[in-house]
Order: sequence, then C-alpha cells, then structure tokens
Amino acid sequence: MSTVTRFAPSPTGRLHLGHAYSALRAHDHARRREGTFLLRIEDIDPGRSRPEHVDGIIEDLEWLGIMPDGEIVYQSERLPLYAEALDRLKARGLVYPCFCTRSAIAAEIAASASAPHGPDGPIYPGICRTRPNAERTRRMAQEPHAWRLDIGNALASLLPGEGRGPERSASPGAGFGPGTLTWPDGDIEAVARPELFGDVVLARKDAPTSYHLAVTVDDAAQSVTDVVRGRDLYAATHVHRLLQALLDLPTPIYHHHPLLIGGDGQRLAKREGAPTIRSLRAAGVDPERLVEDLRTGRLPYGYSAATS
Ligand code: GLU
Repeated sequence: MSTVTRFAPSPTGRLHLGHAYSALRAHDHARRREGTFLLRIEDIDPGRSRPEHVDGIIEDLEWLGIMPDGEIVYQSERLPLYAEALDRLKARGLVYPCFCTRSAIAAEIAASASAPHGPDGPIYPGICRTRPNAERTRRMAQEPHAWRLDIGNALASLLPGEGRGPERSASPGAGFGPGTLTWPDGDIEAVARPELFGDVVLARKDAPTSYHLAVTVDDAAQSVTDVVRGRDLYAATHVHRLLQALLDLPTPIYHHHPLLIGGDGQRLAKREGAPTIRSLRAAGVDPERLVEDLRTGRLPYGYSAATS
C-alpha cells in the first residue's frame, strides 16, 4: 500500500516555524517512500477560521517548497460526511444531545467533591447523559445542543457480542478489554485509553462536527496511511482510535514528532511573537536554507526540538 500523509492546519492564524516543521516532517515522510502528501484545511471552527489565513497557509507552503499532491481538501465542504458518521453513532445510541453551557459545566465541576481530570482538563460530569427521551426531543427543537459520545456505552458496544449493528463487518472490538484498543505509534504499539477523556463532544453547538470526528473521518476517507503530527496531539489519538473502532475505519500508523520550543522553554504555539513564516520571508530569509536547517535539526532562531 502506498504511503499517504497529510498536513492538516486550522486556518486560525499565520503559520509559524512549528507548523513548517510539522508540514515538512509529513511531506518528507511521504516523499522518502514515493508516497502522497496531502493538504487538508481544517476550517470547521466558524468563530476562528478565516479565509485570509487559508491563503496565507498556501502562500507560505509554496514559498517553502512544501507542495501538496492532489486537490486541497476543505473540511467546511465535507460536513455531510461528518453528519453521516454522527448519524451512525446516533442510530446505535452511542451519542446524546448536550444542552449544557460552559458555565453550567464549570459550576457542576466546582460543586463536586472529586472532579476527575483527563488529558484535556476536567472531564464532563455527565449532566445530560441520562435525560429522558421526551425531554431531549422537546429541548432539541428549541435549544442549541452539542452531541457527546457516551463513553461507557461506546466501550461496552465494542465487547464481543454486544449489538454492534449490521453494518459492522470487520471486528475491531473482538476480544475487547482494557488495553485491547491499540495503535502503531512510531516503533511502539500505544494503548488507547479513551475513557480518560469522558464524554467528548463529537458535534459542537456552533458547528455540526468537532475536531475529533472530522479528523478521524477524513483520515480514513483520504486513505491516510501515516499520520505525522506533533506530540501535542498525542492525547487526541486515544479518542481517534476509539472512533475508528466504532465507525469501522482503518487505523493509520501515527508518528508524533517533537515540538519546537523556544530558548525560554515555551512551545512555539504558546509563545507570544513566535516568528511566522511570513515574517521570515519579509526578513529576507532563504527558504531553501530554512527548510534544510529544519530537516537537519539545525533549528534556527534559538529554537530546538523538545524531546518530550
Ligand atoms: N487541525 C489540527 C491543528 O491545526 C491538526 C490536526 C491533526 O494533525 O490531526 O492543530
């Protein structure tokens, strides 16, 4: 099977050196294997995505010579695909509508004696998980709502013999038990612990999907064999692996590369004033030299690759 990788930026700002590093890793991974390198614009966040940032991403990659193969894919044009995946989960009773506001969730967490935390912070306390169907139907007609994965039901549905529905041909959950769901991550087999995240959001109040659902559906739809992305997204893979099992999608090989950090130890994305590719271009930096430096790990401008 020929290798397919992708770079999947969200157009919420200009690309910085860390993005260039990530794009280059995915690009080179494909090129070394005579594979395909795709560009997917993850523009599903209506509040933060901007068309001018899409143009900026394309311009910056062109300047760097990191050229994608094939058509650029825009998630905003693929909403029916995500809706279809969500419908399959709805039909199996694995998701439920959630009417909670952020402040209602925060208040519930603050009031509880022990609020479990996952990799992304406190986990959703399940306020809407057990609402009666009649109430759900009534409120769905009137109130904005998100859709959350019922993690307990989702894991139970993977147990052998548990109503997995007629559409399930392969059996990724066969013999499912703690530690059964794994994914290849570089040289190791990583063990998925999706339960640590609780009932994650699969469709937002303000967008008909979420990052987790869209990225999982698209990686499968685009036949991505190797997901090359930063370690900051490692934890999300627990959720993506579970969604693959629930939706009967293949599991790619994951390669979570180190992040670039500044001399002050701060991750690039977190840091004020990290140089954008545009600013480097404006400063007269030679793109070929920059790419070569990123490739050989002679990271410019006081940056280094974090080892953890
Ligand atoms: N769109 C995500 C981001 O910009 C990356 C998605 C991925 O690589 O899985 O952080």
